[in-house]
Parts: sequence; C-alpha cells; structure tokens
Amino acid sequence: MHELPVIESILKVALTHGQKNDVQKITAIYLQVGELSDLEDEWMQRYFDYLSKDSIAEGAQLKIDRVPVMMQCEDCTISFQVDIKKIDEIVCPECNGKSNKLISGRGYFIKNMEVI
Ligand SMILES: [Zn+2]
Repeated sequence: MHELPVIESILKVALTHGQKNDVQKITAIYLQVGELSDLEDEWMQRYFDYLSKDSIAEGAQLKIDRVPVMMQCEDCTISFQVDIKKIDEIVCPECNGKSNKLISGRGYFIKNMEVI
C-alpha cells in the first residue's frame, strides 16, 4: 500500500493551505499523478476519506489526472512521450538512441483545490 503515506502528505498540504486562507471546506482536490506511479485512484480516495474525517477536507473528491510518461534522449536531446506498456524497449524516435532518461511520469502533485 503506497497510497497511505502519499495521501497523508497530500492532506497535510491541503489542510495547511486551507487554514492559511480561512477556508471553511475543501470540496475537491485536483491531483496529477504520473502514469508510472502505482497509486490507484480507488485506494487514494478511500484513504483520503478515512484520514480527512472531522477535518475541513472531509467529503472532498480527489480528481486525479494521469500525467503521461515523457523521456528525453541523451544523444539528440529531443523529448518524447512513451507508451508504458513498451517501456522496456524504448528507443528515441528521432535517432534510435537507447540512452533515454525519464523526465516526467513519476510521482504526484496537487494542481488545484476547490474550496468554500
Ligand atoms: Zn535521439
């Protein structure tokens, strides 16, 4: 279960933001989650519901956007989107280079929040 610590930190950020801005209630949190991260939407919401009880974020919906995986070729420096099913056999579409590094698609961050 990787979701629990992630949700704890997301909730903490959301609540801190809410307190600073005199928010009465947080109704939705927009998250961007990399396609490569193994966070599952359903579990994220469940943990969130559990952890946010009795806080201003209770009942908030998590709106989760998946961020595509992008890699950059170390030979010709172009960046390109990657199909995660084929991630083991990535070659640069421009020069067929095989030294490619990941530039997005991992991790998560809060993009926005809806508050009252
Ligand atoms: Zn290349």
